[in-house]
Amino acid sequence: MLNLTQRIEQYIREDVRELRPYAVQPSAGMVKLDAMENPFRLPLELQRELGERLGAVAINRYPGERIEVLRAALAKHSRMPDGQALMLGNGSDELISLLAMACKLPGAAILAPTPGFVMYEMSAELQAMNFVGVPLQPGTLELDEPAMLAAIEQHRPALIYIAYPNNPTGNLFDDAIIERIIAAAPGLVVIDEAYQPFASKSYVDRYARHDHVLLMRTLSKFGLAGVRLGYMMGRRELIEQIEKVRPPYNVSVLNCEAALFALEHEDEFARQARVLRAERQRLFDALGTMPGVHPYPSEANMILVRVPDAQRTFEGMKQRKVLIKSVGRSTSPLLANCVRLTVGSPEENDLMIAALRESL
Ligand code: PMP
Repeated sequence: MLNLTQRIEQYIREDVRELRPYAVQPSAGMVKLDAMENPFRLPLELQRELGERLGAVAINRYPGERIEVLRAALAKHSRMPDGQALMLGNGSDELISLLAMACKLPGAAILAPTPGFVMYEMSAELQAMNFVGVPLQPGTLELDEPAMLAAIEQHRPALIYIAYPNNPTGNLFDDAIIERIIAAAPGLVVIDEAYQPFASKSYVDRYARHDHVLLMRTLSKFGLAGVRLGYMMGRRELIEQIEKVRPPYNVSVLNCEAALFALEHEDEFARQARVLRAERQRLFDALGTMPGVHPYPSEANMILVRVPDAQRTFEGMKQRKVLIKSVGRSTSPLLANCVRLTVGSPEENDLMIAALRESL
């Protein structure tokens, strides 16, 4: 008889055993500014209305036609172009995993600029695919076009991810460079617009000119991180193929109803996003006055900041009960001594600025 350790060694994939799990920091009692969440709760009256709506949902049934209502509502909300279809995921994290699953072929690669969202790399690792990270240009954090084109030529990636704006750098990449990457891509290109509610531009009016480009969105940053709802739009023929690897009923009836409710009240979320954009500017200006601190301009609800000593800043802020993300220990040298601050509510940002000043 094998003991449990032996069973794990024998039956769990070696590459899985060696993976590091996606890390979520403990945050009880902290001002939580580490994960680009929207800080605002729904107004009380809407909370009550949502409660009633969720109470009336038939949780004894698998998700059914309401999913189609949600699909249509999201297509309208996003101004989805004609000829496109929309696929739903349990967060865009799930869509990223499913794309890798659908594109896994022996030797297939996923390519993305680095630093970037960790799930692009994790999704490749989970499918035993090759991950090709192409460093951004130091200083400007812009795409390195020659390096991207050379890597595309060399690795012929099945999937290329361009986050627009990018996480953790917060910037929108140059459109002309993106177009040339799209033109050079042998496989699929995903424009990931997770931070679209805070950006000055979107690719939604342009991506559909190319058959092989998908546009990914999420309701997480809009204000529904807890609901877990991501979606992806692309040519109908393409989405039909990727749909085949989706587990049935991946979006629960409660997620679905909460998302529909939020879309009916999208003005409230748009108002919150306006507050956060103004707060982003206020935070950026305050950071700019601190000696030794360099904030990077952002089109997202986060600001990447270079500080004299990221670990000291992170620990000092943690002691002061403000949780941020220390990205300085990531594998990208571009992030040395950087922290990433999520834009919070005005009160949270005041606390964060004070804690940061004392923690430099
Ligand atoms: N894309 C990007 C660029 C992100 O930064 C994130 C989350 N931080 C996601 C996708 C995943 O979002 P979710 O799974 O919450 O939809």
